[in-house]
Amino acid sequence: MSIKLIKGGTVVGPTGAILADVLIDGETIAALYAPGRAPEVEETIDASGKLVIPGAVDAHTHMELPFGGTHASDTFDTGTKAAAIGGTTTIIDFAVQRTGEVIQDGLAAWHGKAEGNCHIDYAFHMIMGGVDDESLKAMDHLVASEGISSFKLFMAYPGVFYSDDGQILRAMQKARDNGAMIMMHAENGPAIDVLVRQALERGETDPIHHGLTRPQELEAEATSRAIWLASVAADCPLYIVHLSASKALDQVKNARDLGKNVFAETCPQYLYLTLEDQLGAPGFEGAKWVCSTPLRSKHETHRADLWQGLRTNDLSVVSTDHCPFCFKDQKELGLGDFSKIPNGIGSVEHRVDLLYQGVVDGKLSLSRWVETIATTPARMFGLFPKKGIIAPGSDADVVIYDPAGRTRISAETHHMNMDHSAWEGWEIDGRVDTVLSRGEVIASGGEYLGRAGRGQYVKRGLSDYLI
Ligand SMILES: [Zn+2]
Repeated sequence: MSIKLIKGGTVVGPTGAILADVLIDGETIAALYAPGRAPEVEETIDASGKLVIPGAVDAHTHMELPFGGTHASDTFDTGTKAAAIGGTTTIIDFAVQRTGEVIQDGLAAWHGKAEGNCHIDYAFHMIMGGVDDESLKAMDHLVASEGISSFKLFMAYPGVFYSDDGQILRAMQKARDNGAMIMMHAENGPAIDVLVRQALERGETDPIHHGLTRPQELEAEATSRAIWLASVAADCPLYIVHLSASKALDQVKNARDLGKNVFAETCPQYLYLTLEDQLGAPGFEGAKWVCSTPLRSKHETHRADLWQGLRTNDLSVVSTDHCPFCFKDQKELGLGDFSKIPNGIGSVEHRVDLLYQGVVDGKLSLSRWVETIATTPARMFGLFPKKGIIAPGSDADVVIYDPAGRTRISAETHHMNMDHSAWEGWEIDGRVDTVLSRGEVIASGGEYLGRAGRGQYVKRGLSDYLI
């Protein structure tokens, strides 16, 4: 097994930054040394002037997800390659139990899509498309034997993934017993469907109406209801996905102030993009930014509140909710009817850079950057200390980040399987320089060296954050 030394860099972890050399033995990190104190080894990687951070963990991706009569355009091959190039070395994708399907069959289908195709390590959450006696029993089995310790439910999308409050409560009670985390898409779907119908009847068909028919009150109401249901289920651990709105954040804050096991993530699009500037782009162009929860108004305080929530840990994680659709033939399914536009934005390649821009802009500390993109997602979902930290014994998933570099985002140069970019023309003050996955250099200086099939499925344990 090869021995490597990453030399001269600044190692950044959740507790701060230190000057240290990182010794890698095979697939794992063997030791950290004070500068100049490491033994001589054959292979050295020069990290002078650069940041050495744990490989990022994206806890929310949807490769090949079937949605709205089509499917997300990235395969596990294209999506994990793009992730790797952008400094993400582990994804947690959502395996899907479709309504009427047995959970184990849905899981087997997801393993079938991913196995042999991933460039980086991967794990799964399970989407429950139907809560009943059988699927509740399957939850125990998945937690105990399949390395799946989190289950996603939907308060939105009636007729597709939707669970009613009784089903949600039953799944939460089960999770309370087996230690799993319930992840919630918190939007009031039945109420949204009424607003959508009314808008279409008025002839309002442009993409911006996707956002206008999903007001923040319906995200806040569902978030609050999920929190109360979890409380009734003896404080079952609850994780709100893709939180986008100030009023929803208030609900999470209140619950956390009461000491509840309530957590939330946000995504880069909610930190930077807006209802007016992107979703409201002229003609049909706004379709590129149709995602749920939707982008919020720039005339309200959402973006500032979300950045603050990241600093105060009311928001624990930044994930992408990577769910790419091409403009041609996919987003275009909603021409003349916004409700038929497939929901999703592709960002799996850009999260590390986009959040580093938050450090440059003075919105996030360096250590908090690493925490929200790598350490906390690993701890939240039972991957720690294998992933999410540079420490002896951990997997040698390492990103060497160049703060003096520059990244320009464009569909012409990105690696995701998309014909457009939600971030077209964006410039970032920083750049992923080198990426190691389990000790192997898979990207360096703009050159990609990895391959499909080297990524391994990782079985997860329970969340680190529960007492
Ligand atoms: Zn999602």
